[in-house]
Amino acid sequence: MDRPVAETDLEFDHRPETDQSFENALEKARNGDRLTVEDGVELLTTGTDVAGIDWRRKEQVLEAADRRRQEVVGDEVTFVANLNNNVTTACTVGCLFCNFKDSAHTFEHEYDGETAGFTKTPADSREIVRDAVSRGIYEVTSVSGLHPALVLDEEHREALEAHDAPRQIDYVPPDRYETDPGTYVDQLRAMSVDGVHVHSMTPEEAAHARRGTDWSYEEVYRRLKAAGLDTVPGTAAEILVDEVRDVICPGKIDTAGWLEAMEAAASVGLGLTATIMYGHVENEAHRVMHLAEIRRLQERVDGAITEFVPLSFVHQNTPLYEHGVVSGGATRDEDELMIAVSRLFLDNIDHVQSSWVKYGDEGGLKMLTCGADDFMGTILSEEITKRAGGQYGEFRSFDDYVELITSIGRVPVERSTDYEERRVIDPDDPPFGPQLGPKADGTPLLEPDERPLPADD
Ligand code: SF4
Repeated sequence: MDRPVAETDLEFDHRPETDQSFENALEKARNGDRLTVEDGVELLTTGTDVAGIDWRRKEQVLEAADRRRQEVVGDEVTFVANLNNNVTTACTVGCLFCNFKDSAHTFEHEYDGETAGFTKTPADSREIVRDAVSRGIYEVTSVSGLHPALVLDEEHREALEAHDAPRQIDYVPPDRYETDPGTYVDQLRAMSVDGVHVHSMTPEEAAHARRGTDWSYEEVYRRLKAAGLDTVPGTAAEILVDEVRDVICPGKIDTAGWLEAMEAAASVGLGLTATIMYGHVENEAHRVMHLAEIRRLQERVDGAITEFVPLSFVHQNTPLYEHGVVSGGATRDEDELMIAVSRLFLDNIDHVQSSWVKYGDEGGLKMLTCGADDFMGTILSEEITKRAGGQYGEFRSFDDYVELITSIGRVPVERSTDYEERRVIDPDDPPFGPQLGPKADGTPLLEPDERPLPADD
């Protein structure tokens, strides 16, 4: 089935056209040969010689990827006990695919209305993380909007306060806002509670943390690491081809900037993950060009990327959808092929993640048979722990994980963020709770009466 994208009138230089044949590309994939971009395009389109997706060929690609997954990582399916603690939804960048941000000016004292979003102080963050760590989580993921008052540290604030036209470099003093988010360094120090692993500061956030200065990304990540940062999420990558970025996120750093930041993070000893956000205006050539960038980056950073995370574009409530640039996201066929080709193309990254947040439980399990081997994390959140029993689907308990993973005949394994520590879970030995965290003793993260209702797929 073709994707219901309002085949945009966008004229891209890169098109999914190749001189390769599907059969040759499949043969190379089955043999474990390194794939070219042309090979990847043939596999992702199930052949550029046919219109739409050929289901027989699709099954062949999925089978090859599932076999490769088995050879590389076996039958274990990993997941992590983690918490999401996003600091703020205030942002001025205006990416056209984003449904997370709230206009930063709505957070100012002078705004005559109520903002729909939130900002947390460092003290708020500390309390939230401390509570979650005491429950047993051992990773906190924090990705935030680019709040105009957020700066790297006090030295950065001084530099921006002295600027001639601070608004031009997206700086507004914190006293203009209802809530002061502090600095990135303050937030990281606050979240570094009791040995928890802090996964934060995307390349875009790092760019925000050096705006208005000539500081290098190395300098920025060095200071962030000293404040408690452990690994960097490779989000904000979207599609690493500038002709696509120019359409969906013109205010963001370009491909070269994103890659420079990631290399800098690795150079100061931080671990990395990598993502792709697909299913909007891009075509299959762009997707595979993105994979090629990630594969080259992994070589330059000497294997620092632990996992690759395909993220299917969620179109609802986004400007791209509301303005009629797209009429939907990727189809399930496209999702399956994206996972499979990621596994086959990225021969230097061991782990491919299936995101239950994007695909739902049923779809997420299906992706585990298309080449994926990691099933994200519990994603405990403040909203869940505070308002127990509400309709919050963004949480998976260890019970859920054991049930889901064993239902497809695979082995549930709790892992640390960097995959260095792993614990195989015996499905016959409940109760199930995290054991790898500094305060994890096997107790389930939430009491039964605190468990949220399951999400709709
Ligand atoms: S930078 Fe873009 S994706 Fe990130 S919060 Fe702001 S508008 Fe959304």
